[in-house]
Amino acid sequence: MNTSMYINGQTVLGTGKTIDVINPATLEVIATVPSTTPEQLDDCIAKAKQAFTTWKNVDDQKIVQAFHAIAEDILSQKNALATLITQEQGKPIFLAQLEVELTAQWINYIASLTIPVEHYRETNGKKITVYNRPLGVIASITPWNWPFMIAAWHLFPALRTKNCVINKPSEFTPLSTIKLVEIINKHLPAGVCSLVLGDGQIGGELTAHPFIEKVTFTGSTSTGQRILQNSINTLKSVVLELGGNDVGIVLDDVDIEITCQKLFMSAFLNAGQTCACLKRLYVHDKIYDQVVQKLTEIINAQVIGEGMASTTTFGPVQNKMQFDKVQRLIEDAVEQGATVIQSIQTKPEKGYFIPPTLVLDASEDTAVVEQEQFGPVLPILRFIDIDKVVESTNRSEFGLGGSVWTKDLQKGQEIAEKMETGTVWINSHADLSPEAAFGGWKLSGLGYSFGMGGLLQYTHKQSVHITEA
Ligand code: NAD
Repeated sequence: MNTSMYINGQTVLGTGKTIDVINPATLEVIATVPSTTPEQLDDCIAKAKQAFTTWKNVDDQKIVQAFHAIAEDILSQKNALATLITQEQGKPIFLAQLEVELTAQWINYIASLTIPVEHYRETNGKKITVYNRPLGVIASITPWNWPFMIAAWHLFPALRTKNCVINKPSEFTPLSTIKLVEIINKHLPAGVCSLVLGDGQIGGELTAHPFIEKVTFTGSTSTGQRILQNSINTLKSVVLELGGNDVGIVLDDVDIEITCQKLFMSAFLNAGQTCACLKRLYVHDKIYDQVVQKLTEIINAQVIGEGMASTTTFGPVQNKMQFDKVQRLIEDAVEQGATVIQSIQTKPEKGYFIPPTLVLDASEDTAVVEQEQFGPVLPILRFIDIDKVVESTNRSEFGLGGSVWTKDLQKGQEIAEKMETGTVWINSHADLSPEAAFGGWKLSGLGYSFGMGGLLQYTHKQSVHITEA
């Protein structure tokens, strides 16, 4: 297994500190990776800056062809890549395979985008052309929940717009990203896409470096705030995809069976460790008991276990810190008088397993309702008055996503318009599209990813005014 960093197209071994990568289902150390030293980081950034001098002029068709070849290469190694993702992240193998497939689709979509050029002509005959030029060297910092796919979400828009990019994956899940950067380096020139390894300290050094023109970050709000603070001296631009506390509102006209299957997936996908997962659910009083009953049946039917077992439908929480946080939130909800329902299925004794959990009738100021749990626990609250529930859920400091569940699509859209979130889904949640802008309002983020708008975040404008001599 390759555990090296990638600098200037070469694998580079560590010289100092190392980090153990732990399988969260077995608690076994599955690899040990080096931590990039400050000297190696400087060298990596200098080589990327050098590579940019030619990469910025690369022919668009060459990039498109390389992207298709990378996507094909990824798909040809789907099972090996998915195995790596499951071992380091914990998710069931079918979900890891989906992560690999979606990544390849995403890369092909980005390849299909053409960087626009605008043309204007003024009445005096002056012509103006507005270009979207590359920025230079981009730093990408990624989290541990969808390590492979989120790395691709950062790297490919940056590369498509002719930037060079350096990724630092989460110290908890570096292995599949190392493999991704290895594949990319088979198809792109040296120095264009690099990878450094380590914890938040190396992330801090990378993102604050004066040669870095932009930082793209997915992770917690507190780290995003630190990156933003560090960007001030050099006026780097940033894209921050941060935490959320997504709300779902279920009206009383839904089909309970179909809706509950979808609600379960929306809230518990990847054991709830998805930024855009449903994190608090408001259900109309008339159908509250039926929804709880159906969701209880669904959580009781999950097979909790190690992700490599083909029968597993529900994996562990990725790391000890997150495991302790989610456990504390459940205990607190019990202390606050809420009713907690946990799956009756047994869980392995070892590993960071928390069974899928429902928290009923908690008050709005309970921590599990107010804060982002980022784990397999869903608070379900009752409501009668839709206006009041929209008003109170909008008080959240987060504004990533929200959903409305109803057969009345007109009413759903009217409610969607009132929700203070970057994305609103009607009758689904967390199903992201490569074409639609995705970003958070309030403490959930800054800037956008995906689609043409997301792509152009990796460029700056240059207007060229041409007057006849
Ligand atoms: P985190 O912020 O602790 O870590 C994310 C990455 O930042 C890691 O690679 C880490 O090493 C690095 N990092 C830590 N300190 C840094 C610093 N000072 N400077 C630069 N880099 C630093 O987040 P996490 O625990 O990995 O992820 C969980 C959180 O991320 C949750 O709150 C979740 O909502 C959020 N998240 C958001 C999205 C989204 O798209 N909005 C997606 C996934 C996760």
